[in-house]
Amino acid sequence: MSAPRMPIESGVPDPFPYMHPVLKKNFGAWSYHDRPRPGVLRHVAKSGDQVWTVRAGTQRQMDVYTIRKLCDIADEFAEGHVRFTMRSNIEFMVSEESKVAPLIEKLTAEGFPVGGTGPSVTMISHTQGWLHCDIPGTDASGVVKALMDELHDEFIKEEMPNRVHITTSCCQINCGGQGDIAINIQHTKPPKINHDLVANACERPTVVARCPVAAIRPAMVNGKPTLEVDEKKCICCGACFPPCPPMQINDPEHSKLAIWVGGKHSNARSKPMFHKLVAAGIPNNPPRWPEASEIVKNILAVYKEDAKDWERMGDWVERIGWPQFFEKTGLPFTKYHIDNWRGGRVNLNASAHIRF
Ligand code: SF4
Ligand code: SF4
Repeated sequence: MSAPRMPIESGVPDPFPYMHPVLKKNFGAWSYHDRPRPGVLRHVAKSGDQVWTVRAGTQRQMDVYTIRKLCDIADEFAEGHVRFTMRSNIEFMVSEESKVAPLIEKLTAEGFPVGGTGPSVTMISHTQGWLHCDIPGTDASGVVKALMDELHDEFIKEEMPNRVHITTSCCQINCGGQGDIAINIQHTKPPKINHDLVANACERPTVVARCPVAAIRPAMVNGKPTLEVDEKKCICCGACFPPCPPMQINDPEHSKLAIWVGGKHSNARSKPMFHKLVAAGIPNNPPRWPEASEIVKNILAVYKEDAKDWERMGDWVERIGWPQFFEKTGLPFTKYHIDNWRGGRVNLNASAHIRF
């Protein structure tokens, strides 16, 4: 009998062949860890072994020359092993303390800031942006680079009340996630439909089913089957654009940035929280997004000044209250801040049924 056909495992690779020998030897047997300085973690194993991890920031989207340079630094100044954190910081592991200072010196000299640990503003996590996704209304890695250039000082120091996780997202569907501060695209006008292309490019029932407020209907225009949008119902979410590119929603003028505050995934000290809208209608202004950057820096400065130690952004806002948040940051409070979609479960189209 022939051997059964086995599935091809294409998930996360086995990390052990790539792991630093001290990490491999002491896997699951660590005693404690501390942070001797910003950007450096020291892990002490029950066996008495120690390992120092040096964390550095990069420009985020890296070319092959930069990756080679980082690998050369790992070979020459570390012990040939690197790993990336989930926020895309690069980490070098060394088993002797004497190797830490030369490694930091080399990284700094080559333009890779060492930091991002503890109560700092660590690297911003972002969605794919212009480079990899087919629907973005702005770049995401570009916003990260522009903002981290401005926040460099907060990356290399640990002077925030608690860690600050910032996220950016390049469409309103937001494949990013919750952040202490999130910078997300916000469309402000319904999609513009190219009726000549809809029938050829879109599976119309899928597009109709996709709309969260049931604003899309089949239609005939110039004798061709197409779709139409009830603009009074449309909430400009952009969900119809990915399955139907002729329903273009990205617009240089009307696709704006919105800033959200107080989200977190972790359940340390307080429960996970959704971020809330605090600023909308901000120009989507590449390559450096100065207007969004000013608002983020202002929120960070007020949080740094006003929050107690260990309060995450959302904990701080819960303690002082949203009216105080708007007062202290000077951000205008408008009618757009009131609806927090608590009724969304019953109001929005949460079923997979197709309506005509
Ligand atoms: S946020 Fe939207 S546009 Fe950006 S990568 Fe995710 S799905 Fe694509
Ligand atoms: S999916 Fe979103 S953008 Fe498209 S019609 Fe519905 S509400 Fe408007």
